[in-house]
Amino acid sequence: PQFYRSLVMGADTKIQLPKGRFVTAINFDNAATTPPLKSVLKEVNDFAPWYSSIHRGTGYKSQFSSHIYESSRNLILEFVNGDSSLYTVIYVKNTTEGINKIAYSVFNDYDVILCSSMEHHSNDLPWRKNNRIEYVEVDEVGRLKLDDLEGKLKRYKANKKLVAVSGASNVTGVINPLNIIGDLCYTYNSKLLVDGAQLVPHETVDINLPSSKGRIDFLVFSGHKMYAPFGTGIIIGRRDLFKEPPLITGGGAVDLVTHHYIKWTGLPGVEEAGTPNLMGVVALSSAIKTLKSISMKEIVNHEKALTDYTLQRLSIIEGVELYGPKSDSSNRVAIIPFNIQGLPHEVTAKILSYEGGIAVRSGCFCAHPYVQRLLEIPTAEMERRIQYPHMPHPGMVRISFGFYNTHREVDQLTEMIHKIAENKGYYYNLYKDAEDLYFPS
Ligand code: PMP
Repeated sequence: PQFYRSLVMGADTKIQLPKGRFVTAINFDNAATTPPLKSVLKEVNDFAPWYSSIHRGTGYKSQFSSHIYESSRNLILEFVNGDSSLYTVIYVKNTTEGINKIAYSVFNDYDVILCSSMEHHSNDLPWRKNNRIEYVEVDEVGRLKLDDLEGKLKRYKANKKLVAVSGASNVTGVINPLNIIGDLCYTYNSKLLVDGAQLVPHETVDINLPSSKGRIDFLVFSGHKMYAPFGTGIIIGRRDLFKEPPLITGGGAVDLVTHHYIKWTGLPGVEEAGTPNLMGVVALSSAIKTLKSISMKEIVNHEKALTDYTLQRLSIIEGVELYGPKSDSSNRVAIIPFNIQGLPHEVTAKILSYEGGIAVRSGCFCAHPYVQRLLEIPTAEMERRIQYPHMPHPGMVRISFGFYNTHREVDQLTEMIHKIAENKGYYYNLYKDAEDLYFPS
């Protein structure tokens, strides 16, 4: 564990709590963003002297920068075992931008999108603009109902369709059975897009779905959830499915232009108009190199052990309600949502932060319909909040791990949760009106 910790920035940052005590901050909010790796920051720094605008210059630096930018595509593709004759790698800002781009320019004329009820808004709202959407149901613990997916695929058998699902949920951590989903897509002739924002950083992903008759047609993910800094996302997509013109047009996307004529350049450049984020690409490819050198298998094993340990410790605390599949970590990434009965989720999160220096996330995690389903809130009740915006928002508290988190940190968390659950009234009164932290300049 000490070795893992030494790889990331700020794993042992000391902070002062509002009551004055100094503690080592604990970050259990890795599903939102992971801290950058030290090796990534070093590689970005080492690369800085070679920094130059790519694809435009004959200068040494420009050509070297272009080489790094282009060769990183292969490294990223290899990470998910993609074949470059079938797939292209497009750099974007993040998962959200990637899915929007595909929704508006690749699948904008499809008859129906089979989205699921567990999606992050980034894999739901972009489809609503141009397409008919059907939401595949989830069960009471948040797993995709495969019979409902099959029923919907059957209903739209003759239509042009896409199944757009997350690889793993950012709320419950549930991993979708992509091999089975791939088989269903193959049988009913549907394309498959996987939002890999939570899956790619935490599991080994093979875009070819080797145990399935189908394959992933589009895989999208974000660098900032896999130990690179913000600003780089990836689309890995089937070359034959992109269409012209691209959604975003401009310099770099063309071979030749007159006032009346545009000749678009080929993939991937045609999808990357404008000066690209070279340093972001250097950072993401560096993060992937480090993850590979640690080995994804090691990462998966460690994070699963932490998840099992936490589930087991939380399940014996009276007054703690766990959501999602409770039993074990086998089909989930390292995300655990919970509530302490009788305490609003945001108050629990504040107590953990202000009393223990433990960072978690609370709320609906940009997946309102999914949280609504898990908490069994009727739609009319959800929608009343539009009329009465001051009503408290429903939600949960979310713990999410990175490979550098430790069992000792989990002990600190679960001891704190135990204390809060036993002294609910005391803590509620202390923190119910707590303001956000104030940082003197
Ligand atoms: N999908 C899932 C499953 C996510 O967890 C997130 C990030 N919370 C996103 C999409 C959006 O990612 P980004 O904010 O990097 O665009």
